[in-house]
Amino acid sequence: MSLIHQTLKTILATVLPSRRFVVRGKSSRPVIHLTFDDGPHPEHTPRLLDALQEHNVRATFFVVGIHAASHPDLVRRIVAEGHAIGNHSYFHREPSQTSADSLLVEVRECRSLLYKLTGRDVNLFRPPKGSLSVSKLRGLWNANQTVVLWNTDPRDFAMTDSNQLVRWAETYRPNAGDILLMHDNHPHAAEAVGALVRRAAEFGLRCEPLAGSDGHRGSWIVDRESSAEVPA
Ligand SMILES: [Zn+2]
Repeated sequence: MSLIHQTLKTILATVLPSRRFVVRGKSSRPVIHLTFDDGPHPEHTPRLLDALQEHNVRATFFVVGIHAASHPDLVRRIVAEGHAIGNHSYFHREPSQTSADSLLVEVRECRSLLYKLTGRDVNLFRPPKGSLSVSKLRGLWNANQTVVLWNTDPRDFAMTDSNQLVRWAETYRPNAGDILLMHDNHPHAAEAVGALVRRAAEFGLRCEPLAGSDGHRGSWIVDRESSAEVPA
């Protein structure tokens, strides 16, 4: 997401209720949120889950329906280990080629698959590439989805070496409420979990999953005031 897009979306977050649109979490609690998109992946997701378990950290996974259908045991493992789960569409199609209607069909299909696999009515949605339009937003809200973006992006998908993400983590200056975007269809996140957790602790912060308004993992944790803040 470009700086201009990020700024526009941050402004949007100031005027919309946080149950509708979120770019960062509540700043009044000493937590940051690790989020992982585009999985589950048969190799990288289990390694990431192992790393999260080793560091006793819970995160949020925005899964793609077609991958969830191929790896249902990983979806169940994500939930069983206390992580939050979000919907990242069924096919992860190119946003510019996707109409609002077809996106909503994908959201519905992924949501019903996740319900079948986990028993949860998942209402956290992250659009592919963070791309939205007015008609897509309206449709998502009519479908009772909370649109979740992010305010911190190390661009792990563009990294060629896991050490790059580790080095990024070691110099990251976390702020309460940060929502970090990473990807579990790439190998790097698993290697960086330790550094991220250590860095958060140095700033007096801990990592927590996002929570949906359906009551899983507690009540929704983002408030309107904090989503009005400009990202670091
Ligand atoms: Zn994605």
